[in-house]
Amino acid sequence: MAEYKFYEQVNKNFDKAAKYTRFDQGLLNQIKVCNTIYHVTFPIRRDDGRIEVIEGWRVEHSHHKTPTKGGIRYSHKVDEDETMALAALMSYKCAIVDVPFGGAKGGVKISTRQYSETEIERITRRYTYELIKKGFIGPGVDVPAPDYGTGAREMGWILDTYRQMHDDLNAEASVTGKPIQQGGIRGRTEATGRGVYFGIREACAVKEDMDELGLDVGVEGKTFVVQGLGNVGYHASLYMIEAGAKLVGIAEIEGGIYDPEGIDLKGIVEYRKETGSIIGFGNTKELASNKDALELDCDILIPAALESQITGDNAANIKAKIIAEAANGPTTADAHDILKDRGALILPDSYLNAGGVVVSYFEWLKNIQHVRYGRINKRFDESSLKKILKEIENVSGKKFTEKEMENLSHGAEEYDLVDSGLEETMINAYQQISEIRNEHGLNDLRTAAFINAINKIGIMYEQMGIFP
Ligand code: GLU
Repeated sequence: MAEYKFYEQVNKNFDKAAKYTRFDQGLLNQIKVCNTIYHVTFPIRRDDGRIEVIEGWRVEHSHHKTPTKGGIRYSHKVDEDETMALAALMSYKCAIVDVPFGGAKGGVKISTRQYSETEIERITRRYTYELIKKGFIGPGVDVPAPDYGTGAREMGWILDTYRQMHDDLNAEASVTGKPIQQGGIRGRTEATGRGVYFGIREACAVKEDMDELGLDVGVEGKTFVVQGLGNVGYHASLYMIEAGAKLVGIAEIEGGIYDPEGIDLKGIVEYRKETGSIIGFGNTKELASNKDALELDCDILIPAALESQITGDNAANIKAKIIAEAANGPTTADAHDILKDRGALILPDSYLNAGGVVVSYFEWLKNIQHVRYGRINKRFDESSLKKILKEIENVSGKKFTEKEMENLSHGAEEYDLVDSGLEETMINAYQQISEIRNEHGLNDLRTAAFINAINKIGIMYEQMGIFP
């Protein structure tokens, strides 16, 4: 079966949805193209003194809103096609969850395991310097964040490098996903996984959809398999288990495991840290290969690793009724059709994994406001609530215990506000895409999500002055 390259896959999904919009082909083409592509090579000195050439990209897919936003990926598989596809997905993702940014993505072609911490620091700082030189980073221009292979540590180096070269009041807003001490926000690390959970919860609350799949309403009692125990896969699993779902299988680089009785998530993460592998943990059984884990019997499959994991080759063997795309682009267009033909519910990446960029947006807002959420109103809210509770005591004669008083009068802190803002966003976005699905009589949330994105971005381009 012919498979398309990643950027083409994204555009195939786009074209499917574009038919349901009112825009002409010229405008649709403008939405689809990548506005700017920066490909850079630079030297770094390895710890042993050798010089090595490193290759990197930053793609700004759409300037219909600025800044553009998207993570930076470190992987030996990074190339221009992948970075373009991921940048385009960022534009659609931001539109779907009403985050007012255009989409971008960066990538550095390195296998992080082969470099020391100081080497990765040198690569990160030099890559940032190259972005600065060409105007591909800045609080109002283009704002990177973590992605596969990067995290708060790298974002901290990026900010520090940016700051050395810009005396900008808003410098902290030039990158998100930073350590808290450098202007990061509480809840960003777990945000993508938390958003994945909120999205699955929304989908599982729709009775008609669950009836069609032959499943009960709600997350509780459902079995799931996760591919990838990285930041996103781990946190999505954590919240699924907290809500009463059972983790029955895991796929990781080194192999796949299965236990129908349920796998202890924290236990396996510890075990993997000690042994370097998930194989041999507790009562789990080893599968012939990591790909086999995707084909296990379960209600929900959560691919939380890289793109093109579910393809025309294995889609027919996948038994999960719900495919929850925590990764970007895990399902190819052919695989999507095969899964849909047998009635699976696919929660598309462009919606489901948007929690990361939602909380990045909150972080950016925090940075340009120069104040932590909750700092100004927390104490005021608490004393107002205490006054109300005292009044209730006076009127009713009931006396609250100290603990009750404390719980009921708790003023919102940064984490509380971030979490409720994320929850609200994921609920609203789900409602928007399911309304579009129903309006067009579609049986496909991915197409509905793309229609939503195209409509929102298209309006921006219609209103834009096109210069001669
Ligand atoms: N890399 C993440 C994503 O693919 C987060 C992007 C961001 O926070 O800007 O959505």
